[in-house]
Amino acid sequence: MKQVPMVDLVGQYNKIKPEVDNAIAEVLTNASFINGPAVKKFQANLENYLGIKHVIPCANGTDALQVAMMALNLQPGDEVITTSFTFIATAEVIALLHLTPVLVDVLPDTYNIDPAAIERAITPKTKAIVPVHLFGQCSDMDAVMKIAKKYNLFVIEDNAQAIGADYHSKDGSVKKAGTIGHIGCTSFFPSKNLGCYGDGGAIFTNDDALAAQMRVVVNHGMVVRYYHDYVGVNSRLDSIQAAILDIKLKHLDEYAEARRFAAEFYNKAFASCDKLKTPATASFTNHVFHQYTLVTHCVNRQNLMDHLQSKGISSAIYYPVGLHEQKAYVDPRYKKGDFPVTEALCKTVFSLPIHTEFDVETLQYVVDSVLEFLK
Ligand SMILES: *Cc1c(COP(=O)(O)O)cnc(C)c1O
Repeated sequence: MKQVPMVDLVGQYNKIKPEVDNAIAEVLTNASFINGPAVKKFQANLENYLGIKHVIPCANGTDALQVAMMALNLQPGDEVITTSFTFIATAEVIALLHLTPVLVDVLPDTYNIDPAAIERAITPKTKAIVPVHLFGQCSDMDAVMKIAKKYNLFVIEDNAQAIGADYHSKDGSVKKAGTIGHIGCTSFFPSKNLGCYGDGGAIFTNDDALAAQMRVVVNHGMVVRYYHDYVGVNSRLDSIQAAILDIKLKHLDEYAEARRFAAEFYNKAFASCDKLKTPATASFTNHVFHQYTLVTHCVNRQNLMDHLQSKGISSAIYYPVGLHEQKAYVDPRYKKGDFPVTEALCKTVFSLPIHTEFDVETLQYVVDSVLEFLK
């Protein structure tokens, strides 16, 4: 039977195998595994691609968020506003640093943070906002930055899912996702749009002082060798991963094109199906489709997913539970019903396979299998 996994990293690797194998061999030959030339080269190329002054590579996307918050010198009890519909890492680092996560609901069409809800959640203790560019399209950054300016707040973009997406500001400028707020964070987890072959992450900023502080934080809070002025962490991108990422970066735009092709194929096929709502893209962003997520209407979602599995087609639920209903994050401030959009999405969304290696036959097979169940 045909197998359609969520991602096809082997197919993608096979197309760039000679380049990648050479790059890995080069790192092995010069044995500079940590902070080697490959890391500096990738850092410079990513800065150039993003149009940002500073990229600070680190060990993963979760660390990127944590380092950003440490560098901003947020204090226990400070409130950080983020969305109730995201991967746990976003809220996890807030909690780990003894900051207070303040959750707000998302918009029903884009699943991204609701700016009006942000403003309602602001208190004198609010210090930062963490919008998440969920599934591959930007949050409404003009609105977020306007609120941040008004209340003097930091903005940390969680850009783990939208690297390469363009944001079109009302002032006419076009910026890359993750370069609009004070700090942007990303993950190079293998299945992300720019994924390495292990763990990796990076932090972006245009602010020289913040960049310097983050370089200190990722390196044990060390300013002068063996003199530790801050409590830091050990968070590094290794040279092998950087060498791989440097090659994949050259293909990032064409990877986004391939993802958009698949998404448009799905969109067309499901456009007239009243049981499925296809993903909407906001006017101010393009979409790099980290996930292709549909909202079901009057459908037994589990039965649909089981049907797809019986045809060899993977699917997944991002995310089944809102942050406010996660056991580890139960909080007397929040109860069931507080985030109605998030809760409705958790019950109805599912994501189809999307990656860079589809052919039309496979996409048609997925579409036919979905529609067969719904007819
Ligand atoms: C993947 C992801 C992260 C964390 O990245 P890791 O590299 O796995 O630590 C953070 N936020 C979001 C929205 C993500 O999708």
